[in-house]
Amino acid sequence: MPGTLITVTAPSGAGKTTLVRELLRRDPNLRLSVSYTTRVPREGEENGREYHFVETGRFLEMRNSGQFVEWAKVHGNYYGTSRVWLTEQIDEGCDVILEIDWQGAHQVRQAFPGSVSVFVLPPSLDELENRLRNRGTDSEETIALRLRAALGEMRHVREFAYVIINDRLPVAIAELAAIVQVARLRYTNQHKRYPQYFSFLAQDY
Ligand code: ADP
Ligand code: 5GP
Repeated sequence: MPGTLITVTAPSGAGKTTLVRELLRRDPNLRLSVSYTTRVPREGEENGREYHFVETGRFLEMRNSGQFVEWAKVHGNYYGTSRVWLTEQIDEGCDVILEIDWQGAHQVRQAFPGSVSVFVLPPSLDELENRLRNRGTDSEETIALRLRAALGEMRHVREFAYVIINDRLPVAIAELAAIVQVARLRYTNQHKRYPQYFSFLAQDY
């Protein structure tokens, strides 16, 4: 009984971590994929919780031996999703959220045609800058780098199945929850998950 795969993508600061965290709190059937990265941990981040933090050499070794179902270089650091972990979750019937960039979302769409891709837009670029600054986790240099990259990333919104404008947080959370629910209700998911309700399809008609 395979689970549903949902990718959530946004420029840094748009609020995807906030949205996903709240959704995970409300929905015990959802699991979050913990990516591998070569980025330096931010204050308060723990190895194995936010990310698996690894050296570049180790990341490249893992990448070259096919251990990532998708990977990308984002803002100068490598990020990737474990193939073994993800396959295990899906095979066990767990619904999984991946918080990944547009390049990774593209790879996941190819590898898992039944997956659902969501793009989170900020209400404006000025608000994106405010949020990055107020978060207080990045240096001015990093903020400038991320803002420059944001427009380029946001152009990829057209490749995604669903779009959430993260203006009012409660509205955006409800919208993300609705997308997850709808993904679960797709014919292919329902049929694989609850074959007993579809046994009539095998009857003569
Ligand atoms: P991302 O994971 O996309 O980089 P975060 O979830 O870290 O973004 O959010 C960036 C900042 O914006 C955080 O300080 C967060 O509390 C704030 N934030 C998120 N969503 C909203 C919202 N709808 N309105 C105002 N602030 C928000
Ligand atoms: P941050 O360093 O702010 O946590 O993340 C920076 C960017 O990397 C975000 O756009 C985030 O979605 C992306 N990212 C995080 N993990 C992965 C991953 O496993 N794969 C890909 N492709 N992108 C990721």
